[in-house]
Amino acid sequence: MPAVSVDDITVLPRIPAPDPTVARHRSVVSLTTAPSGVEGDGFPVRRAFAGAYLEDLDPFIHLDQMGEVEYAPGEAKGTPWHPHRGFETVTYMLDGVFEHSDSNGGGGVITNGDTQWMTAGAGILHIERPPDWLVAHGGLFHGFQLWVNLPRAQKLAAPRYQDIRAGEVALATSPDGGALVRVIAGEVAGHRGPGTTHTPITLVHATLAAGARLALPWRADFNALVYALAGHGSVGTELRPARMGQLAVLGPGNTLTVSADPVQESRSPTFDVLLLGGRPIREPIAWAGPFVMNTREEVAAAFEDYRAGRLGTIPAVHGAPTTIQEAPGADGR
Ligand code: MN
Repeated sequence: MPAVSVDDITVLPRIPAPDPTVARHRSVVSLTTAPSGVEGDGFPVRRAFAGAYLEDLDPFIHLDQMGEVEYAPGEAKGTPWHPHRGFETVTYMLDGVFEHSDSNGGGGVITNGDTQWMTAGAGILHIERPPDWLVAHGGLFHGFQLWVNLPRAQKLAAPRYQDIRAGEVALATSPDGGALVRVIAGEVAGHRGPGTTHTPITLVHATLAAGARLALPWRADFNALVYALAGHGSVGTELRPARMGQLAVLGPGNTLTVSADPVQESRSPTFDVLLLGGRPIREPIAWAGPFVMNTREEVAAAFEDYRAGRLGTIPAVHGAPTTIQEAPGADGR
């Protein structure tokens, strides 16, 4: 799991231990296990948010862990061209390569530790897939895609695309150097990540060595979610066990704590977690397939606009697929 790593973690700035006189530790209110699914043209995912309450996740609406999978030659898959409206996607690669193109002229290639942000806003068509050489040769593929909701006033914002390179992510460590903290978006203890979303969020990928403990200040007005990407450990000061593929929703407080078990499996020697926080939007959610709006009528209008070609057209790119798939159904993306 390379993402961004450092040769000598001890040279990184240290996030001080929370002041016990003001720290209010967030405890675990629910722990759910992500079921496996299949996305796009058939790549394996874990549905990280399945089983959790949407109001606890707000402003996040969907999280897929993509892989981890070792593709055989010819096996790697992506998505067909498909539409979105009403939210933003954040795609982060830990291993492997993903290509993106959209109808707004955005696009790029992301790999180990890179992040791609796409504001669908008023509407966009896009395609996400491994590059041809990865399909031909096979190889490791591991990442995640997060959906961040937009408030009513910004659902029809102009589409936007940002590529964030691995080297732009803010790095820090815990007082004893046992945890590598990558701040991708938002701010933690004065360390600010490069990602910008319309809805304020904090997004951290932390790697804890076996036996390490990480306590971070966490904005009290944000929610707090911990998703275990690899390894096993515990969440909260009550040490609620969590392992790869599990999501912990935390309650109120201003401090978030994660601990790695002292013994990890050799295939994943570290406890890797995504830490997610955002300011809840508290608006009604009407969601069908690739559209996340406030009302059913707005979702119906999105499907109608898509059919009429008003969400954009597929750009003429040599070698790109030229057929639009059927509009995805309720479980489509
Ligand atoms: Mn998509």
